[in-house]
Amino acid sequence: MSAIEDLPPLREVIREHGLSARKSLGQNFLLDLNLTGRIARAAGPLEGVTAVEVGPGPGGLTRALLANGAKHVVAIERDERCVAALRQVAEVAPGGLTIIAGDALETDLRPFLDGGPARIVANLPYNVATALLIKWITVEPWPPFFERLVLMFQREVAERIVAAPGSKTYGRLSVLSQWRTEPKILFDVHPSAFVPPPKVTSSVVQLVPRAAPLACNRRTLERVTEAAFGQRRKMLRQSLKSLGTDPFKLLSAAGIEETRRAEEIPVAGFVALANAVDGT
Ligand code: SAM
Repeated sequence: MSAIEDLPPLREVIREHGLSARKSLGQNFLLDLNLTGRIARAAGPLEGVTAVEVGPGPGGLTRALLANGAKHVVAIERDERCVAALRQVAEVAPGGLTIIAGDALETDLRPFLDGGPARIVANLPYNVATALLIKWITVEPWPPFFERLVLMFQREVAERIVAAPGSKTYGRLSVLSQWRTEPKILFDVHPSAFVPPPKVTSSVVQLVPRAAPLACNRRTLERVTEAAFGQRRKMLRQSLKSLGTDPFKLLSAAGIEETRRAEEIPVAGFVALANAVDGT
């Protein structure tokens, strides 16, 4: 038996450290070792890899990442109570676990990595999950510091990430995610797998960074998608007015009919629009 397997059961850790779940921190813990193992394995072979985990909580997925061979886990947690509980895991994996007490939205984790391959693997706090994903997929420089993201989202958010043009869920998150990565829903997780159970089904999503996304300025693409999907029912000749450049000129330069709506435009169309805004 490895020392990780000798650790007390997660329910005991929760009881000992008084980890009553806090809704404000998006706390829905995974205590099922089969499931945490499945998520860790979904991140691929972890030998020699640094796994970055956001919100380790009582440490179920953290244990699975270490047990599945991660060289190093860098875990950032906002709840001090969980940080104390995680020290027990760090003790049985000397040098294998770095715990950072802090807010993942505000913290640049790159200084904590050793320059080798890194993968971000997390059961995300749902209240900041989309903001965290946007932070990672808009990071500079690109290709990014991570070679893969394996993340748990609410099913509804997962569907938005992978949505194709023409679908109701296709939006800004789909365009930005698919511009820079190849996203895929790996499997769903029933609410009953969590303590406490959330109201909705969850999905584990894998996002693999594209080595060479279509060329455009990232900020301009963000502005264009914000304008276009901010008024998604309107035709682009109307919704793009807020960009401050004649929408007819932009649409003509991008080769897009002026009567089109945002939800019909593939990623390449938004890239062409961003380049038209920048005159490139
Ligand atoms: N990974 C654990 C598991 O699967 O049981 C816990 C997952 S729970 C859905 C989300 C975790 O993220 C909680 O432990 C919460 O305290 C933490 N958290 C919430 N907001 C955070 C933030 N901004 N930065 C870092 N951790 C955060």
